[in-house]
Amino acid sequence: MVVPYVLARSKELVTDPIRFVYSRAVYELVYALVGRRSDVAMGVLRARVKTSARGEVMWRLVNSIRQWRCMTKKLCQVCGETAGREGDGIPWILTQSAFQTMSYLPPDCGDTNSPPTCRACWPEALKRCPELKSHARVVTVREVEPVAVLGDVYRPSSGPHWRTPELVQEQAYVPLDEFARLPMVLATQLVLLLHGIRNVEPPRFDIRSAAARGRTAGSRKPG
Ligand SMILES: [Zn+2]
Repeated sequence: MVVPYVLARSKELVTDPIRFVYSRAVYELVYALVGRRSDVAMGVLRARVKTSARGEVMWRLVNSIRQWRCMTKKLCQVCGETAGREGDGIPWILTQSAFQTMSYLPPDCGDTNSPPTCRACWPEALKRCPELKSHARVVTVREVEPVAVLGDVYRPSSGPHWRTPELVQEQAYVPLDEFARLPMVLATQLVLLLHGIRNVEPPRFDIRSAAARGRTAGSRKPG
């Protein structure tokens, strides 16, 4: 079975402690151990992970650094190769759980925390996941724009232990222009706003045929 590039492995997980610092009238999360350049991405503290690809596959967890890399470099979440270029139409599979439209934006826009999937990997991706078989849209995207992160939001503990973070909300959606909340987030995933989304015709045909192949194969367990 193909292991998607974006997924985390058990030996990549890192649990380095975080704490608050107070600087220029702002409480800000930092790593208690020496900071690294990769700790901060787009002005937000990002969850530390290794990228060794060692250990058991964590089927329900993405590797934050690889997710970020896929989103910013338009890499395929399955094979890790370039999925496409802006302007040419970046291939994407949009699922109900990882894609949302906004009423104030044109209907061909929406945001997602799920990276692109190159056309060569569409059959594998559609076959692997039950949600993709029934609820996915296969599309191309004209251009993308970072708009938010998903992450855990903290606040300083009360009293003399204010440096110790107190968890407020897990996996919150925090827009990149929420400047008051961003210093309190430990981000795990980047969210992109997709512009110029176009269904690939015939979109349902691909999904049904992939589902049929999956049923015929029988032995493959869904991811
Ligand atoms: Zn691919």
